[in-house]
Amino acid sequence: MSAQTKKTFSYEKKVQLDGALGHTGEITTPHGVIQTPAFIPVGTKATVKAVLPESMGDLGAQALLANAYHLYLQPGPDIVDEAGGLGKFMNWSGPTFTDSGGFQVLSLGVGFKKVIAMNEDTFRDDQVIAEGKDRLAHVDDDGVTFKSHLDGSIHRFTPEVSIGIQHQLGADIMFAFDECTTLHNTRGYQQKSLERTRLWAKRCLVEHGRLTELRSDKPYQALFGVLQGAQYEDLRRKAAKDLSGLDEDGITFDGFGLGGALDKEKLGTIVSWLCEELPDNKPRHLLGIGEPDDLFVGVENGADTFDCVAPSRQARTSAVFTKDGRVNLTNSKYQRQFSPIDESCDCYTCNHYTAAYLNHLFKAKEMLASTLATIHNERFIVRLVDQMRDAITNGDFYDLKADFLGRFYAGKAGA
Ligand SMILES: [Zn+2]
Repeated sequence: MSAQTKKTFSYEKKVQLDGALGHTGEITTPHGVIQTPAFIPVGTKATVKAVLPESMGDLGAQALLANAYHLYLQPGPDIVDEAGGLGKFMNWSGPTFTDSGGFQVLSLGVGFKKVIAMNEDTFRDDQVIAEGKDRLAHVDDDGVTFKSHLDGSIHRFTPEVSIGIQHQLGADIMFAFDECTTLHNTRGYQQKSLERTRLWAKRCLVEHGRLTELRSDKPYQALFGVLQGAQYEDLRRKAAKDLSGLDEDGITFDGFGLGGALDKEKLGTIVSWLCEELPDNKPRHLLGIGEPDDLFVGVENGADTFDCVAPSRQARTSAVFTKDGRVNLTNSKYQRQFSPIDESCDCYTCNHYTAAYLNHLFKAKEMLASTLATIHNERFIVRLVDQMRDAITNGDFYDLKADFLGRFYAGKAGA
């Protein structure tokens, strides 16, 4: 690919956090700049459920992430392509991300939880899903065959298919197709899987290079390699070295996704292993992380961006963030709270509506409940990560961390 097409994507590391791998940075994409660390809200099917894209912009979201698997099944990547790409399709002018679909297709049939079992002795390529579970996905060295959760039809993703879909979806940042393992897999399986993911990463780069040339009239799309290796230090470090070293005819990864099985207890350690091996001049995205304590750990250990469905998913079940922890708005104590959910929150919901009104909306099962609660939760998490970024710049990250976490988890206010 020519330097001309590529120069629309770049990354610059800015301020280093004292005594840790954390830092601030700036990702430049064809659709705008992302100041990092940043939380990227998830709009699975090209919509953050219940909320206008305009509202997501107003609440400070710098970019949105959609899922390739879901958009592949519905409406189909060709339709998104014809619409002018993901951002244009959903009326979002800022940067966009798509994931590869790897996690979704491999977790099919097991409730989207990472419950994939593997015993080395009985290792067979197609035995990925735990016994007793409805096996909707089969992985082999070439790709994954799976059943649609919508209509049971059979589909197959390979590295080339995933990259093809993501080029059609047109997001600014895409992810390589990887095998997402779980903490339940044996070390032997993790090793084999890591090599499979490395070979898939090479194929993703080749296909990405080919499609970038073929579609040179489109804005440049950056491709991030996804690092697996579960809880094993040698495997994690190997993944980071392998994928950052890949170069297929001049095509290299533009950044990296830190993925796979991440034990909460070891999250910081695992992220630090990866970030110690990765080059400083490329951004790192921590996949599927959105709890406040995990975000602090991720930022401190060197991740730039994060995505998670949790803030919006929880909001729709009436669980909202406050400075004193997560609370449930259906609790009767909110029936007469004629003040905002959180006095210190600057979101549209807290500026205009009371907890009592949200309590009523949730009890009455009104759609507006989801909209208002989602705006609040997304703003809470986006703002929290923005505050971490400012704190790194101002040299008071550790104070912010101690103050916020001390208060948030002290009360254990609710679910
Ligand atoms: Zn709020």
